[in-house]
This record gives sequence, C-alpha cells and structure tokens, in this order.
Amino acid sequence: MKVLKFGGTSVGSAQRMKEVAKLITDGEQKIVVLSAMSGTTNTLVEISDYLYKKNPEGANEIINKLEAKYKQHLDELFATQEYKEKAAEVVKAHFNYIRSYTKDLFTLFEEKVILAQGELISTNMVNLYLQECGVKSVLIPALEFMRTDKNAEPDPVYIKEKLAAQLELHPEAEIYITQGFICRNAYGEIDNLQRGGSDYTASLIGAAVGASEIQIWTDIDGMHNNDPRVVDKTEPVRHLHFEEAAELAYFGAKILHPTCIQPAKYANIPVRLLNTMDPTAPGTMISNETEKGKIKAVAAKDNITAIKIKSSRMLLAHGFLRKVFEIFESYQTSIDMICTSEVGVSVTVDNTKHLNEIMDDLKKYGTVTVDHDMCIVCVVGDLEWENVGFEANALDAMRNIPVRMISFGGSNYNISFLIRECDKKQALQALSDQLFHNKK
Ligand code: ADP
Ligand code: ASP
Ligand code: MG
Repeated sequence: MKVLKFGGTSVGSAQRMKEVAKLITDGEQKIVVLSAMSGTTNTLVEISDYLYKKNPEGANEIINKLEAKYKQHLDELFATQEYKEKAAEVVKAHFNYIRSYTKDLFTLFEEKVILAQGELISTNMVNLYLQECGVKSVLIPALEFMRTDKNAEPDPVYIKEKLAAQLELHPEAEIYITQGFICRNAYGEIDNLQRGGSDYTASLIGAAVGASEIQIWTDIDGMHNNDPRVVDKTEPVRHLHFEEAAELAYFGAKILHPTCIQPAKYANIPVRLLNTMDPTAPGTMISNETEKGKIKAVAAKDNITAIKIKSSRMLLAHGFLRKVFEIFESYQTSIDMICTSEVGVSVTVDNTKHLNEIMDDLKKYGTVTVDHDMCIVCVVGDLEWENVGFEANALDAMRNIPVRMISFGGSNYNISFLIRECDKKQALQALSDQLFHNKK
C-alpha cells in the first residue's frame, strides 16, 4: 500500500481539492494524509494569539472571516445540495467549537485544540467530496492512532497497533483519508507534531503499515539543486540518499520536513516528492541508495549566530569541549556546526533565546565573541573522504566570499560553510555556477 501526503498548497482551494481527488482515484487502495488548507494553520495561530491576549473580539473577527472563506470553498467544491449541507454542518460544528474557546481560560492546551481544527476540516471536506463522486473513501481519525510518548516522541508500537485496528474497520475502502500534523500526547491530550509536521505523519504511517512508497505531494517539482527563490536556473534533483535529503531539509530546503526522513529510512521505504501542479513529472526519489561521486544540491539556512570561545586552557587539556557543550545543553540550545582548533572552538546556533545566559556561562572558560546575521550554506552529495576534488571544487566557488567556518567530514554527504547572510545570494549563485553549470 502507498501513503500519499498532500500539503496545504495542494488542498488550498476547492479546485485543488478536486485535482487531488482525481489524482488519488486510480482503483488502488491507499492512505492519504492531508494538511490544513494553506494559510489556515497560520490563521488559527493568529486566533490563539488574540485569545492568549484575552481579546475575544479580535479572535471572533478572524474566526468569522475564516468561516466565510470556508463557506465559499464548500459552494465551489460540492455539486449536490445533499453533500453541500453535510459538509456545511461539519464545518459549522468545527467553527462553533473554535468559538467556544473564546470564553474561557486559554493555555497551551487550548491552543493545540484550536490548531487541530484545520486538518480536521480539510480531511472532512475531501472525504465528503470523494463520497459525492462515488468513491469508497473513509475518514480514519489521526487522534485515534497518532500518539507521542512522555518524551514527546512518536510511539511507533502504539501507532502501528491502533492504525491497523482502524484500517481493519473498513477493509472494503479504496481510500483512507487521515489528518497530518495532529496527534495525542502520552496523557491523551490533543497535540501536534510541530509546524509542517504532516510530512512526519505520512512517514510514520508509511513505516507503521510497511508501505511500498511514501509520496509527498507539494506545489513544486521535487527538491531543487539550489534555492529556486534566490538562484537562477535551478533544477530538480531526481535522486537523493536519505542522508542527503535530511541535510538539505534541515539546512533550508523547505520542501520536506526534516523529521520525515528517519522513520522512512529505518523502515527502508522510499519517499518520492511529487508536484500536484505537474503530476506526471518524475519528482525526486529519496532512498537508501547513493549515486557515486555526485554533488547533488546546495541549501542555505539563515538567522544563524556563531559563538567563538578562545582559551589557552584548552591547549593540551581534556574535558574542555564537554564543559562548553554542557552549557548549551543546560539551556536546551542545540548546536548546528562546530569547528575546533587547539586554542578555540566555534559553534553555531539558530536559537538565541538564551544567548546572554550562555555567553555569561561560557566566559568562565575563555574569551567569547559572537557574530550575528550569519548563514549556513550546505553542499550535499557523495562527499566520502576518499573521493578527490569535490571539496576543492566547492571551496573554489567560495573564493571571493568571506568564510567564517568550514565543516567537512562530519558525515559522508555534506560540506558546510558559515558566511554572512548578506553574502548568501552571491555564494549560492557561485556554487550553482561552478558545481552544476561548470562556469568559473
Ligand atoms: P506544503 O503545504 O505542500 O507542505 P509548504 O507551504 O509547507 O507546502 O512548503 C513548501 C513550499 O516551500 C513550496 O511551495 C516551495 O515553494 C517553498 N520552498 C521554500 N524553500 C524551498 C527550497 N529551498 N526549495 C524548494 N522549495 C522551497
Ligand atoms: N498545517 C500544519 C502547518 O501549517 C502542518 C502541515 O501543513 O504540515 O504547519
Ligand atoms: Mg508543509
């Protein structure tokens, strides 16, 4: 069985939903994971923000506007009065439920419930539309099987068992529709898998049912070899190893959520990125296979801060790095890049919430300097150390750009450069010209 995930962009209007319905009705049994219609989750976050600020009037205004938009979507989606009314009832119930939260205490728990409504609505709409078209479609509620444990990590044993039970209830169904993103936590409360988490849902489901393939459908043609918003002439990459895709997803190629890689990789289930705007295009295939000696793509991640700790005490000492890392750990701040020398260490972080406290603590061990507004540029491909010439080629492209840090050898698939954010465009273009178009 295949698992297909359609993102918010792919179900962003009645027209798009109809196209998704066409794409998934080929007679094969499948599980379809849907996001909320694009923009909805952001609007639900905005509503929650008003409720946190104890402004129910502000919240109600946005709720009414969003509800009016959904009424229009329903008008466009359904052909028969019967289904239009059925769907209108469901949508109304969800909006009234959202409204019920404008009266009481508002906490993180209530926000999670509000954020879940986007996926609950979109899946109901597509399921009813498929039924109106005569397709054997059933809704299987993610809140019945998608669960995280006490460490807020998905619980694969629970998911596998409960999902199988849900599927067994409808052996005759052609299409099982379910919600991406939403889940319950270890205490049974409504929770989610973090923003963009529908990709993760698809991968967890794929692993749980032993799918033959996980398809992530979005609005562009696969993972590109560079950021199409910044660089001219980018091309889709046709094949990536899971590790290459993970590096790219983490370092800025937003098309795939990085958490989605691990469950599929461990279960050895290929992930295919496909384009709803051009369904016959080959997209990008992600699997455990490596293409030898090939540089695949470049991605960039902004808003990076570099911290350097210089200390003569580091010379010939042991345990220095542990002390440094413990400080970051105690403030729950993860480190992305590291470079060391005998007398100093530089690290990068993207979360600066506790930067001042971290700096204060680090000063016990050395002289601390900070560079803000930096950017990690990451080159991904078969960069096993025994291959020659590849790192020199990437470095050569960067010859006119001030480079603050270089990291190579951490994995077989990546070289990262830390540069100023203001040099990003030039760096990405130079790497694209040199690595993919053989221009110097
Ligand atoms: P979906 O709703 O399908 O999950 P999202 O809105 O979450 O889509 O994000 C995917 C979008 O991210 C695409 O529309 C794409 O244009 C954009 N995008 C951002 N960065 C990149 C990148 N480096 N490469 C390709 N697409 C990118
Ligand atoms: N709707 C959620 C979000 O916007 C999850 C997703 O689209 O993947 O973050
Ligand atoms: Mg997304």
